[in-house]
Amino acid sequence: MASCAYCKKTILLGGVHQEGFRFCNKDCLAQGQVVMLAASMPEADRVRAAQTLFRGPCPQCDKRGGIDLYKSHYVMSFVLFTRHGSHTLLCCRTCALKKQGSDFGLSLLAGWWGIPFGLIFTPLALLRNGYAMLFPPNRVEPSAAFQQEVVLRLAASEAERRLTAQDNPIAKA
Ligand SMILES: [Zn+2]
Ligand SMILES: [Zn+2]
Repeated sequence: MASCAYCKKTILLGGVHQEGFRFCNKDCLAQGQVVMLAASMPEADRVRAAQTLFRGPCPQCDKRGGIDLYKSHYVMSFVLFTRHGSHTLLCCRTCALKKQGSDFGLSLLAGWWGIPFGLIFTPLALLRNGYAMLFPPNRVEPSAAFQQEVVLRLAASEAERRLTAQDNPIAKA
């Protein structure tokens, strides 16, 4: 069974094809451009990029050390509408704790006010966030997930650069 190269959902019929990849729709295709760029990056470049970032400095505060892939979870509810998700953070422990703390506070204040999902997701998000804050990844080498995130971010900025270069040809000169 085919699945979307970007969101990994199963594609039953149709979809969009490009360069041997298959996507559910144009949105996934656009996001998928980033995935394709990432896939075309040589292994040595990926490892080097991941290593460089892993050894610091932190992209957010410029401090060195403890750079890793952190997760932060949030829930916001507006009566019948509940929004929940996760942020992927590539930064040092201090910056991660700041973001996790603010998402924790946000969920605690704004998570509950949705029926019924606010009541279900909020305790989950608070638990997951609490867990993520208490038990940070503790590695000596960048993980595969870390490397993947670094490569995706590099590819995203490269895709962005190509787009702006297409939009105004003068910028190339
Ligand atoms: Zn998709
Ligand atoms: Zn930092």
